[in-house]
Amino acid sequence: MSNESMLDTARKNFENAAKMLRGAFDPELIKRVGTPKERSEITLSTQLSDGKIHLFKSFVVQHSDALGPCKGGIRMLPSVTLDDVSALAMEMTWKCALIGVPFGGGKSGIVADAEAYAPDDKQRIMRSYARNALRHIHPLVYVPAPDMGTNEKDMGYIKDAIAFSMGVAATQGCYVTGKPVIMGGIPGRREATGRGVEISVLEAMKTLGRDIKGARVVVQGFGNVGSIAAILLQKRGAKIVGISDVDSGLWNDNGLDTEAIARHAAKTGRIKGFKGGKALDRDKILTQPCDILVPAATGNQITEKNASKIKAAVIAEGANGPTTPVADEILEKRGAFIIPDILCNAGGVFVSYLEYTQETQAKQMTEEEVKTRLEQRMRDRFQRVHDTARTRKLCMRKAAMYMAVHSVCSAHVARGFLP
Ligand code: GLU
Repeated sequence: MSNESMLDTARKNFENAAKMLRGAFDPELIKRVGTPKERSEITLSTQLSDGKIHLFKSFVVQHSDALGPCKGGIRMLPSVTLDDVSALAMEMTWKCALIGVPFGGGKSGIVADAEAYAPDDKQRIMRSYARNALRHIHPLVYVPAPDMGTNEKDMGYIKDAIAFSMGVAATQGCYVTGKPVIMGGIPGRREATGRGVEISVLEAMKTLGRDIKGARVVVQGFGNVGSIAAILLQKRGAKIVGISDVDSGLWNDNGLDTEAIARHAAKTGRIKGFKGGKALDRDKILTQPCDILVPAATGNQITEKNASKIKAAVIAEGANGPTTPVADEILEKRGAFIIPDILCNAGGVFVSYLEYTQETQAKQMTEEEVKTRLEQRMRDRFQRVHDTARTRKLCMRKAAMYMAVHSVCSAHVARGFLP
């Protein structure tokens, strides 16, 4: 980890884009676009199954609603702060703008260790969040989704808690995405972020004239994003040589069996103890030799301390904000091809948008339709960012940020400024 906060990283990335937009928009408007609309801290007092009341801090940040209702997941982590949630809400604003969905950016945080609670208690915490944050959650205000520490089941409880509070069987319109399919969720949402990472990597390799078959891949993080990306890239013929999770790392020069690791992790909660590879220090994973590196854990992992030791040709940011600005410069100078988070991991929110439209229109979409639309959109946006990077002589991150911030500024101009 670096000393820089996630908010420092997000602000620096924004400032780089803001500089390029000077002259195109009013400076006050640019400042407005980089400032959160609303930041709230909400205390949950939840009675858990031990009969006692437990207090949890939670946060809801609406960064921008210029392009539409704020969209973004709920991060449940013991270390999550209001500033982290603000950084993530800002990134959601750029991500939604870049991937071209009519949403602004928001995010929630719950200060708790998701793994420390029995399923029944986790459910109580989620319901408590839903009840207490209800005035922020609405299809036209802020629509949450899963993020680190929360999942499909939790989104189901949120929908149920909201419907229950209204005294109805189901909500009208989409209050939350990433729900179980049986509750109005969409097939393929759970895999969508990892699938988007896979498509981005394939596009990057094609752009660089390199073959995915036999390419050596290292994945940091084996949660929903890292595990799916690893499995799908292996199916494309890549060799997944290294994987890590919160505890430990695994290495196999001949390639790891990612599906078997996923089964092992589903049973034990960790990748540790898997027999088909040798153990490796978790912190050494990023600097191992490979062609493609997928940081899919938490923020600020690639820093000035390890960036110069990273050898990968392609870095596909499955996580939000994994690279600090200084590390970014080091990698850029070395000629690494970075697929920035707001593009690389936007598959999740794109499929959330499909879920939102499906629920709004009370329709259903098949998994095949979802996959096709996701693939088309990811390829299209990758190419647009790459074209901008080429014509403006920018790296992929700066090109993506330029496009995203430009869209949000344009939305403000289109809406006008009268109260
Ligand atoms: N948490 C995911 C992200 O960071 C998905 C957000 C959403 O679908 O709203 O992109």
